[in-house]
Amino acid sequence: MPHIKAVFPGTFDPIHYGHIDIALRAARLFDELVVAVYDKPLKELIFSPEERVDMVRRALDGHTNIQVVGYSGLTVEFCRRIGARVIVRGLRVFSDFEREFRMALTNQRLAPDVEVVALITSDKYMFLSSTTVREVAALGGDVTFMVPPFVAEALYRKFQQRERPLFPASLREE
Ligand code: ADP
Repeated sequence: MPHIKAVFPGTFDPIHYGHIDIALRAARLFDELVVAVYDKPLKELIFSPEERVDMVRRALDGHTNIQVVGYSGLTVEFCRRIGARVIVRGLRVFSDFEREFRMALTNQRLAPDVEVVALITSDKYMFLSSTTVREVAALGGDVTFMVPPFVAEALYRKFQQRERPLFPASLREE
């Protein structure tokens, strides 16, 4: 049997229990799993690439066949560079499907040697997305059922910083 290395790419802004579930399930399917944290997507992020890599590492610590790295550029190029033949993605709802389908077909054209494998979410995480986590945390809501405790803390710290006044004191009305 050949040794199969898979990549689970994403933005992970921040990592949540839905991502962790996919990573652990993929790590059981493949010999090696590289969780690849994309550094600068077109969308706006709240955590820096270093912060996101660090949180993903902590969340998946202790799993000997999982490695966490940051990357930039095309995912298929990254896969080739590190000798991975599989890209793992998670599928939640029907609306994910169209985007994932389009991306998988594009990647197939770019790199026919790399297979995309989509794992269906576990139903308890179906509602979970990083956007939901960020929105709830920004409004001061409880996110501890969606993310590990250290991610919840990082979110609260981030949003406290953000709540600083936009104007310097000298320009503010008393
Ligand atoms: P991207 O910006 O590449 O979509 P994300 O960090 O949002 O990165 O997601 C990474 C992967 O994890 C994607 O394949 C996404 O569909 C999947 N994912 C996100 N949330 C869940 C969830 N609750 N259950 C299963 N898969 C999920």
